[in-house]
Amino acid sequence: MNCLVCKSGTMQPATDSYFAKVNGGYVIIENVPCYKCEQCGEIVYAASVMEKIDDLLEHLEKVASKIFIVDYAEAA
Ligand SMILES: [Zn+2]
Repeated sequence: MNCLVCKSGTMQPATDSYFAKVNGGYVIIENVPCYKCEQCGEIVYAASVMEKIDDLLEHLEKVASKIFIVDYAEAA
């Protein structure tokens, strides 16, 4: 798979932290599987991973916490 941004880099499997803002609070999901461009560093998440993140964020909306840090591997 080639990078959509620089068009010359190759996307390699990697993990990254996903950062989101939910209801005025902050959510950090660590160790999220993704593909990272070895050339420009662009990060792409698989559709199934995005779905899982959406599920997680929906669930976390009900948690009354300002900052929430989740490990993807434990939450998935
Ligand atoms: Zn790239």
